[in-house]
Amino acid sequence: MLNIVLFGPPGAGKGTQTKKIINKYNLVSLATGDLLRTQIAKQTPLGIEAKILMDKGELVPDEMVIGMIKHQIEEHKNEASGFVFDGFPRTTKQAEALDAFLAACGYSINKMVALEVGKELLVSRLIGRGLDSGRPDDQDMKIIEHRIEVYNISTAPVKEFYLKQNKFYSVHGVGEVEEVFNRICEAIEK
Ligand code: ADP
Repeated sequence: MLNIVLFGPPGAGKGTQTKKIINKYNLVSLATGDLLRTQIAKQTPLGIEAKILMDKGELVPDEMVIGMIKHQIEEHKNEASGFVFDGFPRTTKQAEALDAFLAACGYSINKMVALEVGKELLVSRLIGRGLDSGRPDDQDMKIIEHRIEVYNISTAPVKEFYLKQNKFYSVHGVGEVEEVFNRICEAIEK
């Protein structure tokens, strides 16, 4: 199995690049943000609880996303030659839970690939995305700023977790989509 964590702040381009990675390497993508938005659309109890936090730019509780991810891995592990995790893990607790669960299945994370993009560009990309997507968390400057802050405080430290395991690869995330994709492929194939 080839299991990749695609890492980076909101607006770094994880979703765009995940689509290209899964096509090239024949993987299954697991994006917690998308999974949560599906729950919101279905108006499940989990979705209703998550929406309140997501609209404010806060993280949803670890147990909630860990449970969802475990369920998805179980569901797809026999058909998949690996996974791309997009937007997960977002806390060290999530990273630990993912490692433990994969190990119990006989798998592991091969690499974390981090997309590096400066704050100004992140903000302008998110504002642009909000115009198309209609996502409430992309339409308010304060919420966008807050998500970047939450990333810096709670999520950025997850890098250390994979650094310690010698699995961390940093990729320059500014440039044409194809250019960034080629850099990611280089990191994956290193
Ligand atoms: P972005 O990368 O632009 O922030 P996502 O779709 O990955 O977009 O996430 C949107 C929101 O969903 C986050 O701000 C957070 O509220 C929630 N979310 C997604 N993934 C996680 C996670 N792994 N842990 C906690 N909350 C999450």
